[in-house]
Amino acid sequence: MQNAQNTWKCSKCGYTLTATPPPPETCPACKEKCEFLDVSCYTPDCTGTGQDKRLG
Ligand SMILES: [Zn+2]
Repeated sequence: MQNAQNTWKCSKCGYTLTATPPPPETCPACKEKCEFLDVSCYTPDCTGTGQDKRLG
């Protein structure tokens, strides 16, 4: 098992960061308490399944 990092995107400002789950509650870019969306599946390694539909 590898402890892979996920890619997270701030739902407010779009800032992305990589971190092991869970993501931080507060965005370091916009300083807002926001929901980080898991966008790991947008990386080139993704097989194309499991994308977060909330990102539209
Ligand atoms: Zn933000």
